[in-house]
Amino acid sequence: MQEIVLKGIPAAPGIAAGHAFILEKQDFVVPPRAIMEKEIPIEIARFEEALIKTREEILDIQKKVMAEIKGQHGQIFDAHLLVLEDRTLIEEVIKRIRSEKLSAEYTFAEVIKKHIKIFSNIEDEYLRERVNDIIDVGRRVLKNLMDEDKMHEFETLSEQLIIISHDLSPSNTVSMYNKNIIGFATDSGGKTSHTAIMAKSLGVPAVVGLKDATLRIHNQDYVIVDGRKGLIIVHPSEETRKYYRTAQNRIVEYRGQFQELKNLPAETTDGRHVTILANLELPEEIPNLLKIGTDGIGLYRTEYFYMNRVDLPSEEEQFEAYKQVAQAMAPHEVTIRTLDLGGDKFISSLQIPRDMYPFLGWRAIRFCLARPDIFKTQLRAILRASVYGKIRLMYPMIAGVGEFRQATAILNEVKYNLKEENIAFDEKVPVGLMIEVPSAAMTADLLAKEAAFFSIGTNDLIQYTLAVDRVNEQTADLYEPGHPAVLRLIKMTIDAAHKANIKVGLCGEMASEPILALILLGLNLDDFSMSPSSILQIKKLIRSVSFKDAQELANRVLQLSTGQEVEESARAKLKELAPQLLSSDGR
Ligand code: PEP
Ligand code: MG
Repeated sequence: MQEIVLKGIPAAPGIAAGHAFILEKQDFVVPPRAIMEKEIPIEIARFEEALIKTREEILDIQKKVMAEIKGQHGQIFDAHLLVLEDRTLIEEVIKRIRSEKLSAEYTFAEVIKKHIKIFSNIEDEYLRERVNDIIDVGRRVLKNLMDEDKMHEFETLSEQLIIISHDLSPSNTVSMYNKNIIGFATDSGGKTSHTAIMAKSLGVPAVVGLKDATLRIHNQDYVIVDGRKGLIIVHPSEETRKYYRTAQNRIVEYRGQFQELKNLPAETTDGRHVTILANLELPEEIPNLLKIGTDGIGLYRTEYFYMNRVDLPSEEEQFEAYKQVAQAMAPHEVTIRTLDLGGDKFISSLQIPRDMYPFLGWRAIRFCLARPDIFKTQLRAILRASVYGKIRLMYPMIAGVGEFRQATAILNEVKYNLKEENIAFDEKVPVGLMIEVPSAAMTADLLAKEAAFFSIGTNDLIQYTLAVDRVNEQTADLYEPGHPAVLRLIKMTIDAAHKANIKVGLCGEMASEPILALILLGLNLDDFSMSPSSILQIKKLIRSVSFKDAQELANRVLQLSTGQEVEESARAKLKELAPQLLSSDGR
């Protein structure tokens, strides 16, 4: 078969080769099959058996997921079970089998398609979100009815597979943790979409923004994922396979040389010390993180805790999780970011209307300030966990001093109540904020007077500054971290922080790209926080260059006019100072 190369956006480095598994085919294409009168009860019985079998399967998966990831992510399957028990749906199928005399699978597929259509058009956001559950359940029932091979489940994958999907929901990515999945590729998404971030934290190569990969790749096609260049090679020739086998060995070799850095400080050749921290999505990642070695956690994205479930996490549940992370990381600091829901991270248990422009809408701190009940529960859990390690508290998406003060007022109320209840917490928990909205960067001097620290969230700062949606593959070329406007805002933030004597970190994906990290070093950034898979490479970078060289570069690029010029200039400098760090395999 002819080799095909699909070009997308590199999302997580590395190379993987294996068979494709197409996820989320939403086309319930079942050919109609007429049945005889006497076959009607047989078809109805087959349908009922398929429902029972599906129910057993779901319960089984739920049990495994709950056992494996400590009960936090299994609740999503409750919603699936509800779909299976939906009497309207079941009765409609049975009635139509009787009246139309067509097979159970065909009738079921027709009814399910109709329900998907109805739910997709519903006003109520919560109900509309149920479409995905209906699709999931529908696909399972259909597989059982059509007596095909048991559908691949992440939980039961015996073969290593590459997932190809239109998009991956946070619930999909969470359930891929520790499974036989060696890479993934999606039609949609950009470099900083949750899919890309999760791929990095799962440590698997990924390409996003392929536009039509799900149409051009078929189940079981042999594919290679090149996460460095953003390529998917379908039916690779023997020559291509050989090339990638060599490349894969080179990556292993390249990464291997960093192991010796684990216990060394991130210090430039002329003695400037920076901190290298990890971004954490799931507490399950910690053992791996401890192997790599880090100065702490610069961003714990707590929203994943709220996803994949039909209810909200209780104070106790959150407390246990934060405590576990704080204890595991002690004596290092753990920066817990309060709930950042919205944008491309939706929470199915909350009935929130979806905004037309989700990133500009009811997101992160805006939501928390409007729902103090949810916010306070999380704040109480974080404060209570603070006696078990070194915790810092951080608010996302603060647009200015007003919001910071409002959040702090709620925090003070929570502290007051804890004291009244004689519950211990660390009174000195540092409270900082993310600088990810341009208005915050422009008022960083004012915010610095009130906050204990800053962490620049470039994933959002770039999209808001340049008006470029971070998850839209169509505008991915316009998403330029090196754009002069972005650099100026970063510099403004760092300078304001230092003037007020507070530390400033950066936890967007920008911190993990060697050429950009070199500029950030020169801009005098204190903390670099990133996906664990990039930590050693960035430490190597810091240890390979002088602060003086980085400062010279930063001063020079601040004079340039375009993002492209900035990146070219930084690339040339890196080539001169540490050529082996130009890409994830040192080439
Ligand atoms: C950011 O915006 O840079 C960030 C780190 O937060 P998130 O990617 O979770 O929005
Ligand atoms: Mg952000």
